[in-house]
Amino acid sequence: MNEMTMRFLSRLENESFARTSIVAFLMPLNPSVEEVMEIKTMVAEALTNAMIHGYEGKGDGWIDVSVSYDETHTIDITIQDQGCGIENIALAMQPLYTTKQHLERSGMGMTIMSSFADDFHVESSLGNGCIVRLRKQLHEQTENALQ
Ligand code: ATP
Ligand code: MG
Repeated sequence: MNEMTMRFLSRLENESFARTSIVAFLMPLNPSVEEVMEIKTMVAEALTNAMIHGYEGKGDGWIDVSVSYDETHTIDITIQDQGCGIENIALAMQPLYTTKQHLERSGMGMTIMSSFADDFHVESSLGNGCIVRLRKQLHEQTENALQ
């Protein structure tokens, strides 16, 4: 079992830092190139949701991330904001549903996370922020696919 947490302001410029740090922490597991791509993609969706929707792009709130993995190479990632929250989670999860059409959002972030994660949970209510939990089971690698 190994674990890390980090906290940073919800400025869009921190998205790349956070995504790269999460992936770097998971490197001892020797993820495949495809697994790295999937983790980066789902994490990017959760981070941008917290920044753009949670804090309405104002960049003045905390985002808390925790990442852990165990000896079975099961990865748990939690991304939490203390922003505006989601009134109707079931509706927000629907493909193509977005409250930001004017920002040319496609409404596919939740769908992408649920397809790349083995387990995907959102906990939120109006005014109480949002917690996204992503679990992914890595497959055993015979050698480091990134070398
Ligand atoms: P895309 O991800 O394709 O750019 P999107 O972000 O609108 O578009 P989803 O990521 O699927 O689509 O999210 C759907 C909706 O859920 C958002 O439009 C927003 O209303 C709400 N939502 C998602 N994450 C949060 C959050 N952290 N805080 C508040 N609302 C959120
Ligand atoms: Mg989104």
